[in-house]
Amino acid sequence: MRRVYFDNNATTPVLPEVFEAMQPYFGEHYGNASSIHHHGQETRSAVERARESIAALLGCRASEIVFTSGGTEADNLAIFGTVKDGVGRPLFPAIQPKPHIVTSTIEHHAVLNTCRHLEEQGCEVTYVPVDGRGIIDPADVKRALRPNTKLISVMFANNETGVLQPVAEIGKIAAEADVYFHTDAVQAAGKIPIRVDEIGCDLLTISGHKLHGPQGVGALYVRKGTELAPQMYGGRHERSRRAGTENVPGIVGLGAAAEAALAGFERKEDLKIAELRDRLEAELLRIEACSVNGASQSPHPKIAEGAILRLGHPRGSYPARVPNTTNIRFDGIDGEALVIALDLKGLAVSTGAACSSGAIEPSHVLLAMGLTPEQARASIRFSLGKQNTAEDVEFAAGLVREMVARLRELSPVWGKTATSCKP
Ligand code: PLP
Repeated sequence: MRRVYFDNNATTPVLPEVFEAMQPYFGEHYGNASSIHHHGQETRSAVERARESIAALLGCRASEIVFTSGGTEADNLAIFGTVKDGVGRPLFPAIQPKPHIVTSTIEHHAVLNTCRHLEEQGCEVTYVPVDGRGIIDPADVKRALRPNTKLISVMFANNETGVLQPVAEIGKIAAEADVYFHTDAVQAAGKIPIRVDEIGCDLLTISGHKLHGPQGVGALYVRKGTELAPQMYGGRHERSRRAGTENVPGIVGLGAAAEAALAGFERKEDLKIAELRDRLEAELLRIEACSVNGASQSPHPKIAEGAILRLGHPRGSYPARVPNTTNIRFDGIDGEALVIALDLKGLAVSTGAACSSGAIEPSHVLLAMGLTPEQARASIRFSLGKQNTAEDVEFAAGLVREMVARLRELSPVWGKTATSCKP
């Protein structure tokens, strides 16, 4: 059966060149990167080469990169590390005044649940809202600042809608207020060019498996001079910022993925993916009663502009979302049923919904954008990757059209209560 994978925001296939780069570090080169002998030196230099490659992707110094086990750990390290006193030292309420964090309602759970945990410990957290397009207003971030604000954590690109946030403006606000700024760039890295100095962030998270690298490895950019308390007991790895023997094959893979991402920008692969995504979106929008969740137009100049102008992309020509994502609501449809029906026919997509305690919860991101729970449950995320082709788009569009029609036919309420949301 033909299978098309449009769930690249969940994870991406490892590129052949990434796999090839990693392979020797599972066998031939097995040293512990902390050992001083030949074997250790061999893997140490591979780790340091990877660090250089990631620094090149983000426009920072290699010494500012800390390897982690993935995006979740990097987000945890950034947030706990800047507001907590570190492993073994007293936490709240010992720290006075209690630190305050500004974050948003649409963050990934790696950030949201970390902030909620700190809130339970007495930390103060403000969750700024988004508008109907899924965009945070930097003025809300500024208004939320308090004398005890320690950290702003706002994501670069949302994982469910792909919508880019005005991180460069937020960076300016943070710098003016002398507050640390962390951005979760897990869904932006490798998809759009990133330069940390243009964003003005102090901390930035990336994850290997979202940019055609391996799962279980990530990195945190930590601007030189940022006070970051380590969150694990152990050795002095990663300049005492993250204890634990380095995952050498994973780190080598992340480095190779970063190099492939940079080479991809040079070949304008990001624009090709955007073209495929736009074609898919246009085809799907021909279906009755459906619409895109999230901003569609070119950004007004506020949105992450400085960060995406590299490599000659003309000003304002970039979409308001990362190039690979579209989130579409099919009125009258149960998203889970559609995902399953499409999977049975060979197309992998996802709902943004999370399953907690056996119940399907509508996406917190779509609810924050003002959708009703029913509308959020009727929404599907399509996320493309480097491996996808025009034929994949054609196959997917045809299949979705067929399955949406079939599910609506079966629906006892479609056509009676469901209303078209098409503008
Ligand atoms: N942040 C965002 C925006 C994500 O999309 C994800 C993964 O879906 C994560 C963080 C967590 O990354 P990881 O899977 O590497 O832990």
